[in-house]
Amino acid sequence: MNTRKFLIKGGTVLTFQKGSLVCDALDVLVEDDKISNIAKNISIPDVEEISADGMIVSPGLIDTHRHLWESAFKGAASNWTLMEYLNGMLGDIAPKMGPLDVYLGNLLGALEAVNSGITTVFDWSHIMNSDEHAEAAIKGLFDSGIRAKFGYGTPGTSVWEWFYESKKPHPINAYDIKKKYFSSENELVTMALAIRGPEYSELEIAKQDILMGRDLDLQISMHIGGGVFGPKYMGVQKLDQLGLLGPDLNFAHGNTLSDADLCLLADYGCTLSITPEMELQMGLGLPVTGKALKHNLTCGLGVDVVTGTSGNLFDQMKTTLQAERAIQNERCYQKGEMLQQLTIQDRDIFKMATIGGAKTLGLEDKIGSLEVGKQADIIMIDVQKLGVAPSHNPVSTMVLYAKEHDVDTVMIAGNILKRGGKMVYQTTDELILECQMNANEIMKQITVSSS
Ligand SMILES: [Zn+2]
Repeated sequence: MNTRKFLIKGGTVLTFQKGSLVCDALDVLVEDDKISNIAKNISIPDVEEISADGMIVSPGLIDTHRHLWESAFKGAASNWTLMEYLNGMLGDIAPKMGPLDVYLGNLLGALEAVNSGITTVFDWSHIMNSDEHAEAAIKGLFDSGIRAKFGYGTPGTSVWEWFYESKKPHPINAYDIKKKYFSSENELVTMALAIRGPEYSELEIAKQDILMGRDLDLQISMHIGGGVFGPKYMGVQKLDQLGLLGPDLNFAHGNTLSDADLCLLADYGCTLSITPEMELQMGLGLPVTGKALKHNLTCGLGVDVVTGTSGNLFDQMKTTLQAERAIQNERCYQKGEMLQQLTIQDRDIFKMATIGGAKTLGLEDKIGSLEVGKQADIIMIDVQKLGVAPSHNPVSTMVLYAKEHDVDTVMIAGNILKRGGKMVYQTTDELILECQMNANEIMKQITVSSS
């Protein structure tokens, strides 16, 4: 078979390469699933050209923490605190989710992510009510065409048993799931373990779960430092005392971790996923961005849930930046001073959404930047549109101005999933309708049982 080749021509390439920001008029040659050349004025025969005139050509955005199964419940938790969310989503809705609901949620969520320029997502799937649920979640990811880490979580059958100081170990079905669906690391979807950790399960259980993840050779993700749970359980310190910290551990949020905790995480090469909007809404605490960067902790961003906010990473980039600035400005104001300089910049955030995200998921050899030899996960942002034009600063366009309708093209592993502003996926309307009907049905059951 002939090699499939695309030449992305005439755009402004915006990426980090070996740690440095590159912003230049360059062409990008894609052969099969990889980037084979990036240079000025590439000209070769027998290639399909994609015009990037007036566009930013960027690495695909990376969402390092998201519960995709909840995608059909937009607005259900827009006014909920963390405890209301735990009881409402995990307590009421999760037990009523069938495998088909999980499939539809994952497919819808992955497609809306792709539409907004997200090419990789960590799907933190705590809806493993049965093996059929797991199969459905995985199929939803594969059918969407997105690159994903499927975080095999716990059942959503009882929030009380599984999420409040749980005494139940992680299901050992993880072994069968890995064997059955994830025999190769070269697939677009690979596996991780999504465990409760010391804030949601007993410490001994957290230890067992981490050891299981290591036995399976998987990245292990858990929520940490969420509001009062941080100081109450001292999770990072406890894991350190047990000698369990390591670079295979990914932590979500970390809002109420101490400087000593963050320092420990950085020392052990652990990674952090910051999801600012949900953290601010649900009372987890202020986003820890500035402190984490100060400690050189590897950080990525995440949407977390779309039950209370949009599914694009642009909004998370903007919120991360401005929340950190608010924290720094307030600190100064409290001392009776005005901040003289903004120490966190748009480029810090763009980095977190791209190469930082790749590092957070342990995928930096494959994705996160536009460099020769890496996977062709590329997005193009049309900067000639109302709302972003005229753009004088491509980085700020990405972080502060762009939205999903500005995403012209999305390519994942050399496959085009969006082009000319239109998704290639054909039956979106039917999918949305089915999601809506099924979600309505579940929410109706809850209203009936609670009235
Ligand atoms: Zn989460």
